[in-house]
Amino acid sequence: MKYTLKKFTNLYVLGKRIFSIDKRYSLYFTILIILKTLAPFALVVIPKYILDEIIALNRLNIIIKYLLFMAFFNFIINFLIQYFEPLLNNRIHHLRTKLSNEFSSYVLNLDYEYLEDPNILDKKQKAIEFIYGSNGLESFTFNIESIVVNIGQVIGYTYLIISINPYIVLMIFCGAIINAKFQAMAEKYSYEAEMEMVRPSRMANYIDYICSDQVHIKDIRFLGIEKWLLNKKKESNKIKLLALDKVAHKYIHLGIVTTLTSNILNIFFYSYLIYSLYTKQIIIGDFVMYLSAITNFSLSLSNIFVSMAKFLNINYYLENYMEFVSLNNKINRKNIGMIVELNRAVIEFVNVSFKYPNHDTFVLRNITFSISTNDKISIVGENGAGKTTFIKLLLRLYDPTEGEILLNGRNIKEIDYELYRKYFSTVFQDYKLFAFSFKENVSLNNSDTVSDDEILDILNKVGLEDKVNSSAKGLFTGISRIYDDLGTDLSGGEGQRLAIARALFINRPIVILDEPTSALDPIAEYQIYQKFDTLVKNKTSVYISHRLASTKFSDKIAVFDNGEIIEVGNHDKLMKLGGKYRSMFNMQAENYNDNNKEILYE
Ligand code: ADP
Repeated sequence: MKYTLKKFTNLYVLGKRIFSIDKRYSLYFTILIILKTLAPFALVVIPKYILDEIIALNRLNIIIKYLLFMAFFNFIINFLIQYFEPLLNNRIHHLRTKLSNEFSSYVLNLDYEYLEDPNILDKKQKAIEFIYGSNGLESFTFNIESIVVNIGQVIGYTYLIISINPYIVLMIFCGAIINAKFQAMAEKYSYEAEMEMVRPSRMANYIDYICSDQVHIKDIRFLGIEKWLLNKKKESNKIKLLALDKVAHKYIHLGIVTTLTSNILNIFFYSYLIYSLYTKQIIIGDFVMYLSAITNFSLSLSNIFVSMAKFLNINYYLENYMEFVSLNNKINRKNIGMIVELNRAVIEFVNVSFKYPNHDTFVLRNITFSISTNDKISIVGENGAGKTTFIKLLLRLYDPTEGEILLNGRNIKEIDYELYRKYFSTVFQDYKLFAFSFKENVSLNNSDTVSDDEILDILNKVGLEDKVNSSAKGLFTGISRIYDDLGTDLSGGEGQRLAIARALFINRPIVILDEPTSALDPIAEYQIYQKFDTLVKNKTSVYISHRLASTKFSDKIAVFDNGEIIEVGNHDKLMKLGGKYRSMFNMQAENYNDNNKEILYE
C-alpha cells in the first residue's frame, strides 16, 4: 500500500514538474487523449444503424447520411491525431533536453562525496536511463496516454455491452487480469535484468571512453593493453547480453499465455453472439455492433493492464530518477547573513577527525591546526598520511566526522557553500586543463570581458610567455588539437604553470597547491615556488609537497603521519627538533647531485 502510494506520489511530482517546465507538452498530451478516446466509436456504432436501415426501410439517402457522418467523423479525428502526434513527439525531445539540462545542473551542484560513491554513480546511471532510455520518458508518455484513452473507451464499451449480457464484461475483465499479471511479471523481470546491467554498462562505457581519450590512449598503446581492455569490454557486454536473452524468453512465455487466453475467450463470445442471433434475441445490426464492441472492449482492457504493467516498470526507473534527483546535499548552501571578509581569513581545525563515508577507519585523527591571514603553510608527509584528505576537508568537499573547522570563528558548516568557495583558488594534483585557448584556460567564464594584456601578464609571471608567443595563434591558440587544427600540446610542467596561472587569475585570498609541481624537475619546481612566493605575497597559501626544498619558504610546516599532525613549525625549528621532518629532509637532499643541492638546499 505504502509502495503504491509512493508510485503515485512520484507520478504526481513528475507530472507537476513536467507541466511547469513544458506546458505545450501537457496541452498536446491532453488533446491527443481526448481524440484517441473518441476515435473508434463511430466505427463501432454507425455500422449497426446502417445495417438496421438496410434490413428495415433501406432508404438510400439515410444510408448515405450515416456513411458520410462516419467518414467525416473519422477523417476529422484522424486528421487531428496525425496533426498533434508529431507535435507531442517533438515536445518529448524538448522535454528530454530540458530535463537533461536540469539534471546536469543538479549534478554540478551535488555534494562531491556523492560523486565518489559507486552506489550513487549507479543510481545516476539509472536516472539517466529514465531521461534517455527506452523505458523512460517516452514510454511514460505513451503508457499514461494509453491508460487514460483505454479507460475512456472501456467505459463506452461497457455501456454498450452491459445491455446484452453483463457477464461478458466480467469475463473479459478476468481474461485481461490474467494477461496483465503475466505482463507485470515479465516487466519486473525485464527491469531487474536491466538493473543488473547498470554496472557492466558503466564499465563498457568507461572502456569506450578511455579508448578514445587522449589522456589514456598513449598509456594504452604503449602498455600494449588494447586486447585486455577489449576483453574487459566484451566480458561486460556478455553479462548484458545474457540478461537480455533471459528477458526475451520471459516475453515468449508471456506471448503464449496472452494468445491462449484471448483466443479462448473470443471463441466463447463469438459462439454466444451467434447463438443470440440464431435465437433472434438480437438482430444483424446488433450482432455487428456487439461483435466489434466486445473485440474492442477486450483489446482496450488488455491495453490498460499491459500499459499499467509497463507503467509499473517505468515507475522503477522513475523511482531511481526521483531518488537521485532528491539526494539531500549535506553541505549547506544557504547564506545565513555572513559577510565575505576576503581580506581576513583565519581557518582553524579544532580536534578534527575524519573517516570516509562507508569506511570504518579514521584517516585523520584529532587535527588541531590554524591558518592565519597571509600564512605560507606547507603540508608534508608520506603517501597516504592524510594530506589530500586534510585539503578536502579544508575545501569542504567533505565534512569532518568529529570536531569542527572554523572560518573567522564561525563553523564552516553554517556558511553558505558558494560564499565559502570564494575564499579559495586551487591547483589540484590531478588538475585538468580544457581544450580551449590559452586565454580561456586562464580567464574561463570571464574571457569576454578581461583584456588580453592582463592574461599575458599572468602567463608571463608563471613563465609561459615564450610558449604563448611561439604558438600559432598566440593567446588564442587551443590547448590540444581536439578543436583547433593549430592547437598546441603542453608538457607536464607547462600544463602545471597554466593551471597555476588560472588559480592566480581568479584571485582568491587562500591559494591551495596540491603537489602542483610534481611534473617539474627539482630546479624548475624550486624556481616556480620562488616566483609563486612573490605572486602570492598578499595571500594565504597552503602547499602540499613531497619535495621539501620548497618548504623553506613556509612560515609553518605541518608534518602529517598516519592521519595525525606530529610536528609543526618553520624549517629551522623542525630541523632543530630532529624528528621526522629532518630525516625526510636529509634523505631527499642526498638524492640530488651537488649542483642541484647547492641551489635547493643551501
Ligand atoms: P596523502 O594525500 O597524504 O597521500 P590521502 O589523504 O590521499 O593521503 O589518503 C589518506 C588515506 O585515506 C589513505 O589511506 C587513502 O587510501 C584513504 N582515502 C583517500 N581517498 C579516499 C576515498 N575517497 N575513500 C576512501 N578512502 C580514501
